[in-house]
Amino acid sequence: MKVLALMEPNKVQWIEKEKPTAGPYDAILRPIAIAPCSSDVHTAFEGGAAKPAGFVLGHEAIGEIVEVGELVRDFKIGDKVVVPAGTPDWRARGIQEHNFKHPEGPFSSFMLSGSRDGVFAEFFMVNDADNNLAILPEDVSIDDALMTVDMVTTGFTGAELADIKFGDIVCVIGIGPVGLMAIAGAKLRGAARIFAVGTRPDCVALAKQYGATDIISYKEGNIAKQVLELTNGRGTDATIIAGGNAETFALAIAMTRFGGGNIANINYFTGTEYLPIPAAAYGLGMSGKTIRGDLCDGGRVRIERLLDMIRYGRIQPGKMVTHRFYGFNKIEEAFYVMRDKPKDLIKPVVYIDWSKEK
Ligand code: NAD
Ligand code: ZN
Repeated sequence: MKVLALMEPNKVQWIEKEKPTAGPYDAILRPIAIAPCSSDVHTAFEGGAAKPAGFVLGHEAIGEIVEVGELVRDFKIGDKVVVPAGTPDWRARGIQEHNFKHPEGPFSSFMLSGSRDGVFAEFFMVNDADNNLAILPEDVSIDDALMTVDMVTTGFTGAELADIKFGDIVCVIGIGPVGLMAIAGAKLRGAARIFAVGTRPDCVALAKQYGATDIISYKEGNIAKQVLELTNGRGTDATIIAGGNAETFALAIAMTRFGGGNIANINYFTGTEYLPIPAAAYGLGMSGKTIRGDLCDGGRVRIERLLDMIRYGRIQPGKMVTHRFYGFNKIEEAFYVMRDKPKDLIKPVVYIDWSKEK
């Protein structure tokens, strides 16, 4: 089968690879819509986690099932399904310790394009199909559904890690698709005021639609200082990091209130050996601020719940799709668009109609 693979850092190309096989609990899928992710770009071009030569990228997909293992109960060939970016092995020991993201070691729930070939392929395998796939509802669009698999679940994970409460003052740093969904999540959890840090006009417009009350530009100086001024020196109750570099991490800590403030990181930091904690802003170690950072929630139930939120009008994540491509071979072009980030890009999607593919 044909796949788009990472050969070495900075070198992505089409190659032929063996079609994957399904174990008793697994399914083999053909992609019918995929989206490249900033994380694929970090991995391929920005010094992210090392991968073996010929490793298939991509972890955001809607697919059609073409094969199921003999112990799969709830899915059959021909089903159209939404595939979460996080597909833990739900039989792993760590699951019983409620460790859903790293149950068998660091990043072990991040299988597709993490520890195993991803979805930029004619076929891909999803482990533990019954627990990791969700049926694509007829009344949910491909765009909306595809955004749940990583962008919505990750942004919402940010809002959950930040433990946002009614009336909170929140800052979301970085308003690409992940940050935009963190804003939507913060609003749904009851935030009163939401600062959004970003500059691109299309992202700013959508940030306001999703719930941002104030826009701050990191190009106009220290964002922690700006937030502290706008909050009379108090700072935020919760700060969610969804973009930026190591310095951004320090600024997030600096803008968050002493005594109970929460810092939630969902950003993928590359190019830094350490993440800085500013001693004074962290109360010389005694600030009462909590720092959390994690992978997105994965699995079937998470996705089914997010799909319900779309069906009942709570979120409209499909609005983030700005660039559309048609045909399997367009995955490469879409991936480069994601890397090069034209000013009007929020999220690209590739739609694949196998009846029209040669
Ligand atoms: P994106 O690149 O589209 O958005 C990041 C935004 O941050 C951009 O708009 C950029 O202009 C902005 N930015 C850059 N420097 C900044 C700075 N100094 N201060 C403030 N903003 C700055 O990326 P995305 O798709 O929204 O993803 C955001 C991050 O989340 C990426 O690092 C991605 O790899 C990561 N991610 C994590 C998970 C997870 O499970 N935790 C899942 C998906 C994506
Ligand atoms: Zn991703």
